[in-house]
Amino acid sequence: MSIKKNDEIRLKITALTSQGSGIGRYNDMAVFVEDSAVGDDLLVHVIKVKKNYAVGIIKKIYKSSPDRVESDCEAFGKCGGCSYRHISYEAEKREKKQFVTDAMNRIGGIDVKTENIYTVKNPDRYRNKAQIPVGLGKDGQLITGFYSKRSHRIVPCDDCLLQMPDFKDIVAAVRKYILENPVSVYDEETGKGLIRHIYLRQGRKTGQIMVCLVINGDTLPKKERFIESVLSVNGNIKSIVLNINKADTNVILGEKCVTLWGEDFIEDELCGLTFRISPLSFYQVNPEGTEILYGKAKEYACLKGNETLLDLYCGTGTIGLTMAKYCKELIGVEIIPQAIENAKKNASLNGIENSRFICDDAAGAAKTLFEEGIRPDVIILDPPRKGCSADVIDTVVSMAPERVVYVSCDPATLARDCRIFDDKGYKVTELCAVDMFPRTVHVETVVQLVRKNPDTHIDFEISLDEFDLTASEAKAT
Ligand code: SAH
Repeated sequence: MSIKKNDEIRLKITALTSQGSGIGRYNDMAVFVEDSAVGDDLLVHVIKVKKNYAVGIIKKIYKSSPDRVESDCEAFGKCGGCSYRHISYEAEKREKKQFVTDAMNRIGGIDVKTENIYTVKNPDRYRNKAQIPVGLGKDGQLITGFYSKRSHRIVPCDDCLLQMPDFKDIVAAVRKYILENPVSVYDEETGKGLIRHIYLRQGRKTGQIMVCLVINGDTLPKKERFIESVLSVNGNIKSIVLNINKADTNVILGEKCVTLWGEDFIEDELCGLTFRISPLSFYQVNPEGTEILYGKAKEYACLKGNETLLDLYCGTGTIGLTMAKYCKELIGVEIIPQAIENAKKNASLNGIENSRFICDDAAGAAKTLFEEGIRPDVIILDPPRKGCSADVIDTVVSMAPERVVYVSCDPATLARDCRIFDDKGYKVTELCAVDMFPRTVHVETVVQLVRKNPDTHIDFEISLDEFDLTASEAKAT
C-alpha cells in the first residue's frame, strides 16, 4: 500500500541522516521525520510524498528512543542552529562517527572506519562567534535571534546555549541602543532599513571581544551612544566595528569595515601561539576543538624538520603556523586579503621566520608554485564546505607530496575528493572525526593521504624531444 499526503502511519525510526532527521521504512518507502531519534516508535503525519521517499512530522510518540533527552532550549525545533538537543551527546557522537564512515564508504567508495570521534569537554557554550539577525516582528516589535530551519524567519532568542556567555548582555545592549535611538531595522523584502546583523567574536583564551554591527548604509546615527551602550556591559571589548553591507544578498558580511572604537582586530591563543583576527578573516568557531583538530593534523603531517609544508586555504595561517617549528619552510595560501595580512602578522607576533603567505585562489597559487618548481613534502588542505576543485587536486598530485593532510567540515565532499586522490595515487591511511560543532549536524574530519607508489609520480622535466632519435640512430637500434 502506497503512502499518500496526510496519511497517518506508524513508523519505527532506524537511523538518522547526516542532515539530522530520523528515517524509517514504511512498505519499503523511506520516510524522513525531523526531531526523531533512533528507536522511536511514532505516529507520523505524512506531509510530503515523492517518488522514492516521503516526509512526515511526529504526531505522537508511542515509545521513546533510549537516546532521547529533554531539550534544554526553548528555541529548539524552531531555530535552525541545533539539530541534536533531543538526544544525548553520547548518541550524537555515535551517529556522527557513523556519518563520516558512511560518507567515506558510500560516496568515496573507500573502505575505512572512523575509529575515533574526538570531542570537547563541554558540548555547550563553545562558539566564539555569533551572527545574530535583526528584524521586525509582525507587530513591528524588534526581534533578534536566529534563522529558523531553511528560511530567513527570525526565531527570537536572547541567549543561545552554544554561544559564549558574554554575548547575551552585549546583544541586550545593542537592542537597547536600537530601541532608544532613531535607527531603522533592515527588511529583506524591501531592502530598506539600516541594522542587519549583530556580529560578535571572542577570543576564548584572551577574553577579548569584537562587536560588529552589519549595516545597510555608510554611517550609524548616534554612534557614541552605541559605543557607550556596549562598552557599559562588558570590559573585555577591544574592538567595535561597522561592517557595510548594502547588497541584496544572503551573505552576512560586506567587504568594507569601519572601526568605530578600539582596534580593528582581536587576539586569541591557540596551541600556545597568539593569533590576530580581523572581522572578515575566518577563525575556527570552537577553540577547544580546534586545538584537538590541529593536534591531529600535526600528527598526520609526520614532520621531521626538513620539509616544505604547503598550507592551502590557510585563513589567518593558524594550522601551518602551529606546525612551522617542526618543518623547514611553510607556505600558506588564502583568498581573503585581510586573513593573509593577519597570517603575516601572526607569523611575526610568534617569532616565526620560516613562513611566507600568498593571497590568491588555491588553484591558481598552487599552479604558480608548481611552475616555480616548488615541491612540498606535505600539503595541508582545509577548504570550505564545497571541498577542493579538480584543479587543486590535480596540481597537488603533480607536486607529488609524500603526504596530504585533508581537514574537512563536510564528510561528503571530503569523501568525493578522497576518491579522486585515490584514483590519482593517494591512499587514505588515517582518519578521525573531531566534533567541533556539538548539537548541530556539522562534524569535522581529518584524513591522512599517503602517496601509494613513490615512482609513479616522479616528474620528468626532460623534454620528449630529447628522445627523438635521428633516422640513422633509429635504424641502428
Ligand atoms: N585553515 C584555516 C581556514 C580554514 S576555512 C583555519 O583552520 O582557520 C577555509 C578558508 O579557505 C577560509 O579562510 C576561506 O577564506 C578560504 N578560501 C575559500 N575559497 C578559497 C580559494 N578558492 N582559495 C583559497 N582560499 C580559499
